[in-house]
Amino acid sequence: MKKSQNEDNPYLIAGPCAVESFEMFDEIVHYLTDKGVSRIRAGIFKPRTKADDFQGLGLEGLEIVKEVKKRYHITVISEIVDIRHLDRMLETVDILQVGARNMQNFELLKELGRLSTPILLKRGSSATIHEFMEASRYISNNGNYNILMCERGIRSFDTCTRNLLDLSCVALVKQSLNYPVIVDVSHSLGRKDIIYPMAKAAFAAGADGIMVEVHNDPFVARSDAKQQLDFEEFDHFYEKLIMNE
Ligand code: PEP
Ligand code: MN
Repeated sequence: MKKSQNEDNPYLIAGPCAVESFEMFDEIVHYLTDKGVSRIRAGIFKPRTKADDFQGLGLEGLEIVKEVKKRYHITVISEIVDIRHLDRMLETVDILQVGARNMQNFELLKELGRLSTPILLKRGSSATIHEFMEASRYISNNGNYNILMCERGIRSFDTCTRNLLDLSCVALVKQSLNYPVIVDVSHSLGRKDIIYPMAKAAFAAGADGIMVEVHNDPFVARSDAKQQLDFEEFDHFYEKLIMNE
């Protein structure tokens, strides 16, 4: 028998790589909340490898997120790259993400440790599992134990996937730390065709949740176009995950 959407709803964080406009973000949030997904990625600062690539809308994007948030009951996850943005971000953002590139930005981590806001800490692409876990202590040492650990793949020699999804990291972090572990299947794989089996594998390894990029029109996405699911693709992914096929 088909389960209803909210029954056994797996912990999902979904949404676009980056907020690009009010219309685009509103359309995506409308679609996702309609399906019962309420934890929404809303990247406004995009640390990109290439300096000339789209860097996100910045604080202007935050205003869009604020407006859209008024219309839906959502939890917003967004990356903080500079502690000077903290007060502005806290007005709208519920979970602050520390991206892979800032996993060892220790002064940023220490400042976030003074908050009670949940922090989603991503593993650096070249960080060992010990370094990843140690980074979380820069947050918890200042009193914030509200941490979500996020495996997002590490560098490897293999170009079939964007990064190498390290599921042993999931199992080992679960063994040592008392924090939820999230697996970002989009940035680790960089492709869409194996997201479902790897999400299942992540749950089998002990992950508490999955992060996945969803865009209303991935072909024209200003970042990570290749890995973002369109609505139809997300429908299939979500249905299979709920049905646990
Ligand atoms: C992101 O989640 O938007 C992102 C940039 O991921 P990462 O820091 O893992 O590269
Ligand atoms: Mn992305």
